[in-house]
Amino acid sequence: MRSGSDYLASIKDDGRQVYIDGACVRDVTGHPAFREATRSIAGLYDLIAEPANRELLTFPSPLTGEPVSLAYLIPRSREDLTTRRKALWRLAEESFGYMGRTPEHVASFFTAFAGAPSVWAKTKPVYYENVVKFYEKMRDESLYVAYTIVPPQIDRSKPAHKQADPTLYAGVVEEKQDGIVIKGAQMLGTGAALADYIHLSCIHPLQPGDENYAISVAIPCNAPGVRIYSRRSYAEGATSMFDYPLASRFDETDALLVYDNVFVPWEHVFIYKDIALTRASFFESSAHLLGNNQAQIRFAVKMKFLAGLVRTVAETTGSIALPPVQGALGDIASLAALVEGLVLAQEAHCKVDADGLVRPGAQEQYSQMVLQPELHNRMLNAIRDLVGGGVIQLPSSVADFANPEIAADIERYIQSPGAPAKERVKLMKLVWDALGSEFAGRHAQYEMFYAGAPFVTKGHMYRNYDFAGAKALVQRALDGYGLDGRSPES
Ligand SMILES: Cc1cc2nc3c(=O)[nH]c(=O)nc-3n(C[C@H](O)[C@H](O)[C@H](O)COP(=O)(O)OP(=O)(O)OC[C@H]3O[C@@H](n4cnc5c(N)ncnc54)[C@H](O)[C@@H]3O)c2cc1C
Repeated sequence: MRSGSDYLASIKDDGRQVYIDGACVRDVTGHPAFREATRSIAGLYDLIAEPANRELLTFPSPLTGEPVSLAYLIPRSREDLTTRRKALWRLAEESFGYMGRTPEHVASFFTAFAGAPSVWAKTKPVYYENVVKFYEKMRDESLYVAYTIVPPQIDRSKPAHKQADPTLYAGVVEEKQDGIVIKGAQMLGTGAALADYIHLSCIHPLQPGDENYAISVAIPCNAPGVRIYSRRSYAEGATSMFDYPLASRFDETDALLVYDNVFVPWEHVFIYKDIALTRASFFESSAHLLGNNQAQIRFAVKMKFLAGLVRTVAETTGSIALPPVQGALGDIASLAALVEGLVLAQEAHCKVDADGLVRPGAQEQYSQMVLQPELHNRMLNAIRDLVGGGVIQLPSSVADFANPEIAADIERYIQSPGAPAKERVKLMKLVWDALGSEFAGRHAQYEMFYAGAPFVTKGHMYRNYDFAGAKALVQRALDGYGLDGRSPES
């Protein structure tokens, strides 16, 4: 299996163009903005390759018989969903839920694509063959694929082909005998700087005239013409791991992707100028459900971590003894338990689709996606309330401990019963990185938008809720009485 060092060696490739702070980074594994994130990804590869984790995290590849990540298991039963969840949960624990787009995410999308021949039946068979081959390649080579499936925010009032320049949004500009050429930009490639390939497609609704943008392709991150414009790095601003324990290790980075006349060979084209299939690939296949099931398992881990974090603070400061604090912790625990429960309910309410793939329950999944920003913010606000100024009354950095002139004051005044200064400061710095650092701010935005704007997720919920069953209940109530009471006919 691919080890962490295999992964690190392979992304030190030729031609990768990652731009940050005005410069081009060729080797992300050696740059402070990306280095620790690549190590965190490498840690995941090592965890999966560890023989002791074979049963928990892998299954035998149907092609080679070698162990491959369970993220690639096409679920054919409820038990398969449970097996996937246990593996994805364990992998998410490595970043405490703070890395959203680890290799398991897009792996889940391609697993669903490969498990959906009926969706691809509406196009030439070669495109489905390409999807299956690429899925098998990802699975058997343990590839890390990121995705950009949203057009850049330029003018949201106009469709893709009516933007001021038709090559602003990433789309096909030329067809060649051996492939196609893509030009334009797409957002927001989380992890793209760290990955092997980018999946480029469009999940936003497209209109007639937008055919050039109705594609699904895979592109190596170092392909000529691919430019990865990273946002500001929070890892680089993290002065030490002690001061920023999350930002320093788990800043998976987000980037605008520019595709400047990028050539894509036919074998990596899965959908070509097909508006209906582009949409169907996400929503008629189980891709949206399976991909977001992974995302929500990750979110459940994060909520559990946050609940554990604030309880540790309450125990450290002694406030745990106060009944109102216990009540607040009960509130916090209910948020974490609700999210975990919705993940489990997706398995309990799974459904077999036309291709025999077992899908996580849609209404449980979409209700979690609609509530996610609110639950996350409510969790953070509850933590804010309980930690008070403790997360601010902190030495400026780990360096303060090394200065004997001030160390004594720190030891004396920033301590709690049972928690000497170093322990207490360490804990509170972790809380601040989850609550108030720039990394934490990005996470609030992430939980709100990673799967589409809130009005979009509400639309999914509207379409997937059992309103028929709900209305039947109402009808039953209405049918039970009339003008004079019991008799419905009166
Ligand atoms: C941290 C982060 C990481 C991300 N990672 C990825 C990634 O890895 N890959 C990827 O492809 N994408 C990623 N995304 C992008 C994400 O998919 C988009 O942010 C999301 O689809 C929403 O699009 P938008 O940001 O352009 O917002 P918009 O669609 O422009 O919406 C912004 C707001 O404008 C209003 N609005 C816009 N249009 C309408 C409308 N039609 N009706 C009503 N109100 C409207 C709403 O208030 C809405 O909330 C990420 C986003 C974030 C924040």
